Amino acid sequence: MAIAVLKRSWWLSTLFLLVCPVKLPAQKIQASGVASENLTSNISNNFYIANKAPLSREYFTKLPVTAFKPGGWLKKQLELQRDGLTGHLGEISIWLSKKDNAWLNKEGIGKYGWEELPYWLKGYANIGYMLGDKNMIKEATFWIEFVLNNQRANGDFGPMAMPKGNRDCWTNMPMLWCLQSYYEYSTDPRVLTFMSKYFKWELTIPDENFLEDYWEKSRGGDNLYSVYWLYNRTGEKWLLDLATKIDHNTADWRQKNNLPNWHNVNIAQCFREPATYYMQSKNKDDREATYNNFKLVRNIYGQVPGGMWGGDENSRKGYDDPRQAIETCGMVEQMTSDQMLLRFTGDTYWAENCEDVAFNTFPAAFMPDYKSLRYLTAPNMVTSDAKNHAPGIDNSGPFLMMNPFSSRCCQHNHAAGWVYYAENAWMATPDNGLAAQFYTEGSITAKAGDGTEVNIVEKTKYPFEEEINFSVIVPHQVSFPLYLRVPAWCKNPLVTVNGKKMKFTLNSGNYIMLSGSWKNGDKIKLALPMELRVRQWMANKNSVSVNYGPLTFSLDIKEIYQQKDSKENAQGDAKWQENADSQKWPSFEINPGSAWNYGLLLDKGAPEKSFTITRNDWPKDNNPFVNKAAPITLTVKGKQIPAWVIDQYGLCSVLPQSPVHTEANTVDLQLVPMGGARLRISAFPVVE
Ligand SMILES: [Zn+2]
Repeated sequence: MAIAVLKRSWWLSTLFLLVCPVKLPAQKIQASGVASENLTSNISNNFYIANKAPLSREYFTKLPVTAFKPGGWLKKQLELQRDGLTGHLGEISIWLSKKDNAWLNKEGIGKYGWEELPYWLKGYANIGYMLGDKNMIKEATFWIEFVLNNQRANGDFGPMAMPKGNRDCWTNMPMLWCLQSYYEYSTDPRVLTFMSKYFKWELTIPDENFLEDYWEKSRGGDNLYSVYWLYNRTGEKWLLDLATKIDHNTADWRQKNNLPNWHNVNIAQCFREPATYYMQSKNKDDREATYNNFKLVRNIYGQVPGGMWGGDENSRKGYDDPRQAIETCGMVEQMTSDQMLLRFTGDTYWAENCEDVAFNTFPAAFMPDYKSLRYLTAPNMVTSDAKNHAPGIDNSGPFLMMNPFSSRCCQHNHAAGWVYYAENAWMATPDNGLAAQFYTEGSITAKAGDGTEVNIVEKTKYPFEEEINFSVIVPHQVSFPLYLRVPAWCKNPLVTVNGKKMKFTLNSGNYIMLSGSWKNGDKIKLALPMELRVRQWMANKNSVSVNYGPLTFSLDIKEIYQQKDSKENAQGDAKWQENADSQKWPSFEINPGSAWNYGLLLDKGAPEKSFTITRNDWPKDNNPFVNKAAPITLTVKGKQIPAWVIDQYGLCSVLPQSPVHTEANTVDLQLVPMGGARLRISAFPVVE
């Protein structure tokens, strides 16, 4: 019929097309394995702001904070945070007090004003934006408005910290990130002029006075990222000069066999600085330096499960056993770095590390209700009390207990952990497609293909199940590529589209690309079959850890919670508001109510065969990181090791060398997800 019309006259056919859209033949969806190295090309996403030339292309582009609506367990974590410490820290923390706060003063003068406010706000505000929580958005806007309105004539802003007479830029770095998120949420143009004015001022600071203090010198990479963020939006070329100046004045994170300092949070946050600057320098050594930093730290202190390393305050020579811990801030910064590096390098290794930390380490830093947290969490941790465990750990004081009044930096900085994870669950691709990076229940709404707003609803209990279901909701048929990340542990992923099994070869690829024309109601099913895997840590006494897919498992230790007064057990630098109610916000010690000193009895030829997997009902409260209702448990045989005891520092002593001989009887042991284990043994000795 259309052909007949065409023959009659061109304009008539055009009219026909306008009033009666021709139904295109449905283009079949095809699947292929794609390596992310091939993802970037000379094209750039048309709808979301990616790197602008001469910066090198990004492999993936961040979507605005409101694009993803989380569901399932991830939404539950954010709701618990909203109802817990993150949402109520303004009632407790002296640094969030509105009295005498330097963040509310134009000259930056006030008793309270440092990193705490922006540390908290970067998570608190984003949770508000993501959940659409009016109260949280109102409270976040209160602080943002003061910041925007209090910029000084020279462009500077924020608390007037002047260590050794130099203007300290550190506290402003996380506040710039808050402004970037606020801009994603609001597109308020004041953010761009504000940041431009501030960066012009930074450009005037002589090098000998710029980024001189310890924190700002270590963490210049955060400032650098904000400069690129603004450059990509305004294209002001002088911003690239500032970027070079920041890189030159930041501590040297390019040393091959050393780091500028060994503070765990600095490492997790700053190791990415050279790879960030690589986007401008295009010097491969810069990119390599970030990889070298990561390997250096992991080789010495990171021969442990959970994605982090032993860096309780500072990594120390000789302290590399899995009983060494990591700061909650360190976990948040590592996950943030992983998400950024996935975008910058396209290397899915960073996504793997991010999942490892998110599933196995981060949730255990909190009480199950997210109403309190601890400073330090270790893979092997059999007590979480108010005692001083130094020098077994680096910090002197009550650094292991769950206390909402304590752990000054982590108390505020923990807020961003889950919400940044959720923001990066989906990313835009250079070919106007979408990539599913971190599988989680939820719904993504974004422009794709020809600019049509598409909505993909994702249903899954991943990582506690293998299957992920997607439904495509589109107003009309639209072509765009959809990328599904395949984790390295998954050998045989399966995909069906509308019930039809897709054929593809993955080879060394790490994404399945589904391309073609999508119609409303299309259904995609992705299965990522999980297997048991035993990892051996030869550098840590031949100990072993057990994985099922991305989940690591720990010994199920009975956890005895004892309530304490938060004010009486706080660390030396803790401060709280006069009316802060420690009855409403108690702290907890957790002590073991069962033996923990077991080794595993493993099948020598096939250690994976030693375990039995049990799948349990999904927890009624939708929170899988509480082991009373663990969705998956393992059983394995083991024996007690009587010589492996609590040492003079009150910590589980260093692992014995495996294989360990013990006369004890063989018993059945239950293992539970590491992320839900507040007390845990995750690196086990092997018994004969
Ligand atoms: Zn901290």
